[in-house]
Amino acid sequence: MQQHRNKPDRKTALQKDYLTVEGLLHGIKEGDTTALARAITLMESSREEDREKSYTLLDSCLPLAQSSVRVGITGVPGVGKSTFIEALGELVTGQGFKVAVLAIDPSSSISKGSIMGDKTRMQELARNPLAFIRPSPAGGNPGGVARKTREAMMLCEAAGFDLILIETVGVGQSETAVHSMVDFFLLLQLAGAGDELQGIKRGIVEMADTVVINKADGDNLRQAAAARSAFERALQLYPPKENGWVPKVLTASSLENRGIEEIWELITGYHEKYRENGYLVGKRREQNIFWFKQAVDGELSRRFYSDQRVQEQLEILIKKLEDGSISPFRAATVLLGAYREANG
Ligand code: GDP
Repeated sequence: MQQHRNKPDRKTALQKDYLTVEGLLHGIKEGDTTALARAITLMESSREEDREKSYTLLDSCLPLAQSSVRVGITGVPGVGKSTFIEALGELVTGQGFKVAVLAIDPSSSISKGSIMGDKTRMQELARNPLAFIRPSPAGGNPGGVARKTREAMMLCEAAGFDLILIETVGVGQSETAVHSMVDFFLLLQLAGAGDELQGIKRGIVEMADTVVINKADGDNLRQAAAARSAFERALQLYPPKENGWVPKVLTASSLENRGIEEIWELITGYHEKYRENGYLVGKRREQNIFWFKQAVDGELSRRFYSDQRVQEQLEILIKKLEDGSISPFRAATVLLGAYREANG
């Protein structure tokens, strides 16, 4: 990682040219956050011509990406994610590194509101010149939201961000997607409640590289220590990780700024170890293949369901399914057949 003591603040002639891919690329390379924000907006656009532009931009950014530390952070609403990210962000920027925070909020794609309610979150960090915060893209399906976040991550890397934090609400829909784009996955938990009570699915705990028992302060201290031991025992029951990493359980208080440094040291230690032994390179390669397949699936499904013949047949088949006159498997075969007929 490279240390950045000053915010890049070079006004260039090209800065006005953020409507073109070349202009945006230039701005991103300069580390200009206005260019970065505009490029992410372009990435989020569903207009056909913007899609083409955004792919060109992303391709140009790829060689510049790769060197950051990518961390996923999850936990139920209220567990203290944004306060924690703010504390971690202040620590890391204080060491001269650039931090980007991106969010995946599945609720933003389903309802208009968002669980995270981004407006007032992380105000301190938002003012920090070495930080960049981008709320979850709204609209589209949850898969689309995750993909856009991953693309935004690549742009942030190209803009020279050293640490990328991907935040998600720990309710199970988007954790797999986040896990598939980060190097290290952090689960925040509260003391005094079992997994179930906190709405955390077993699968999410299994993905965690570290569990942090958060809000370990005040009256909560004793309970937090007990929760830590309970989690340590529980984690032993999970299958070992393919890279040999044994998930850690730590306690933290963002309000009292305790445990944050330890967590950051753990993350950087992990990163160094697995970069040096080649594991991270392999993992990122696998992740690329995963996203490639996701993109193909997404595009196939988009084309399929936007076909008029499919839409007509779909309605008819659903009615038949409802009155029990066709089996689901047969209905699927008929629908696929309708698409094949319509498209030669
Ligand atoms: P999020 O929904 O997961 O992002 O949670 P927030 O960061 O918004 O925090 C939810 C509430 O918990 C807020 O009222 C915070 O002030 C409080 N909180 C966050 N971190 C801590 C902590 O370390 N200790 C205590 N006691 N409260 C905290």
